[in-house]
Amino acid sequence: MSKKPRVRFAPSPTGYLHIGGLRTALYNFLYAKKYKGDYFLRIEDTDQKRIVSDAIGKLIESLEWANIMHSEGVYLGEEGEIIERGKYGPYVQSRRLDIYQKYAHELVEKGKAYYCFCTPERLDTLRAVQEKAKLAPAYDKLCLKELSMEDAKKRIASGEKYVIRFDVPETGETEFHDAVRGKIKFVNKNLDDFVILKSDGYPTYHLAHVVDDHLMKTTLVFRGEEWLPSTPKHILMFRAFGWEAPEYAHLCVILNKNTKKKLSKRDGDASVEDFMKKGYLPEAVVNFIALLGWNPKTEQEIFSLSDLAKEFDVAKLNRAGAILDTEKLDWMNGMYIRQKNIKDLAQLCRPYLEIVSSAIRRKGGNQILSDEYLEKIVTVERERMCKLSDIADGSEIYFERPEYKKQLLAWKKMLEKEILDSLQKSLEIVGEIEEKKWELGNLKNKLLGEADPKNRGILFWPLRVALTGKEKSPSPWEVAWVIGRGESMERIHAAIKLIKN
Ligand code: GLU
Repeated sequence: MSKKPRVRFAPSPTGYLHIGGLRTALYNFLYAKKYKGDYFLRIEDTDQKRIVSDAIGKLIESLEWANIMHSEGVYLGEEGEIIERGKYGPYVQSRRLDIYQKYAHELVEKGKAYYCFCTPERLDTLRAVQEKAKLAPAYDKLCLKELSMEDAKKRIASGEKYVIRFDVPETGETEFHDAVRGKIKFVNKNLDDFVILKSDGYPTYHLAHVVDDHLMKTTLVFRGEEWLPSTPKHILMFRAFGWEAPEYAHLCVILNKNTKKKLSKRDGDASVEDFMKKGYLPEAVVNFIALLGWNPKTEQEIFSLSDLAKEFDVAKLNRAGAILDTEKLDWMNGMYIRQKNIKDLAQLCRPYLEIVSSAIRRKGGNQILSDEYLEKIVTVERERMCKLSDIADGSEIYFERPEYKKQLLAWKKMLEKEILDSLQKSLEIVGEIEEKKWELGNLKNKLLGEADPKNRGILFWPLRVALTGKEKSPSPWEVAWVIGRGESMERIHAAIKLIKN
């Protein structure tokens, strides 16, 4: 019987979740869904110096936002505390130190690793000498060659600091199969005798994840391409323990569109939280990142999470770097915005419009943002939106009377008299529509019916400016519908007064 597929996302809590990390989580999630396997979240916090205190919480929140949830591992409790669920725990590496220590010593006993007492000063000197001789920096196996096990144990017993290093064979090659890149081979003599257990008793990433992936029964590892050069070390360790290694799938790098360089955490807007704040929808972000490195090999571009889970195929993962094209994301996000129902979309837009309406209230305005009003604004604006935050652009027109120069009321070279005639005509048309017939379609039909088809601007321009005070805005019937009959009439009156003064 073949093994149950088990995959994991294993981030280090060294900062916020990066878009590349979200992609790794997504592929794990899709894989587990497709092959009815388990997907668990493990936290790799063995590099204690780089830990950011609230990173685990933020990371889980970002995954929750994207709807890419695991079925085992680390979660947030009611009070925001870190909790764990699953039978292979603990899932936070710093809670497993005794396990790593046991296995590191076991490798020493097996003759596959050794104690090393070299001081940082000796290692610095060694590096300087190698650099001068134009050699790649590597540990010279001094403690393996010169020190007996008995002496090493005596030095440990006397309290001397030590690390444990893996004894990489000096000859031969290490070969493995990568699910994305096929057969990969590394020459062993180019690999350093890397540290597996540090002098403070913490394991390095190399040891910790190998032990964990074995004990937690991981069958496939999705991770970033940057780990590819370390993979032979990991394979050698699995073999030294006598364990079967999981399969690896190294995902392509994500490139900055302008520099064509690898996107780093320093590329400000690459954190999931930034995408969230800017008003991208999780469905759009997930769809977008799914295609960063996975090619469905069809024309289809819009995929729901369940479509993705059906279509996802490791064989269609790309090797070449993927460019992060935010214009494409904007387009996709706009598509998803237009697919949402108005009520849901309105609630997603509420925080952005609250900022505008409350700023205007502070200046003395009195518009309270009711759900009904909010839904009207969203109905009118959503065609033009790419991001949720776009709803706020120019939205003050829905909350306060516009101020503008009277020249703006003129369409092309209209004279004041013509502007007045136009506004009077609008007033009449609008005035004839009763409150209960104040519907978007009705307003549009009436206004279009009355305008000169060859020169609609004569009627629509002055009216639109009267309602919005802007050179560019939604159409006059849209704005009039949102702000209501009374307010529309008031604004037209105000424009007439402005011309007359
Ligand atoms: N902790 C590693 C990182 O955050 C994960 C690498 C892996 O998945 O094995 O990059």
